[in-house]
Amino acid sequence: MYAELNTKSDYCMECGYDGEIQIKEDDDGKLIWVCPHCGNTDQDKMSVARRTCGYIGTQFWNQGRTQEIKERVLHL
Ligand SMILES: [Zn+2]
Repeated sequence: MYAELNTKSDYCMECGYDGEIQIKEDDDGKLIWVCPHCGNTDQDKMSVARRTCGYIGTQFWNQGRTQEIKERVLHL
């Protein structure tokens, strides 16, 4: 099994950065994840290992779902 499951192991699929993804607040006060290496903020293109820790994780995934629904509506 993978030993790194217990450590902070975020991953950016955009540039291949393997480390700690930063959390920032955007203009609307929403919490967003930002790759410190390439500035990627696309949640679909990064893997955040800390999604279960507290309200930040919850808000992150709720926003992701909201975005998904919005995109589906646009495609119809
Ligand atoms: Zn990156």
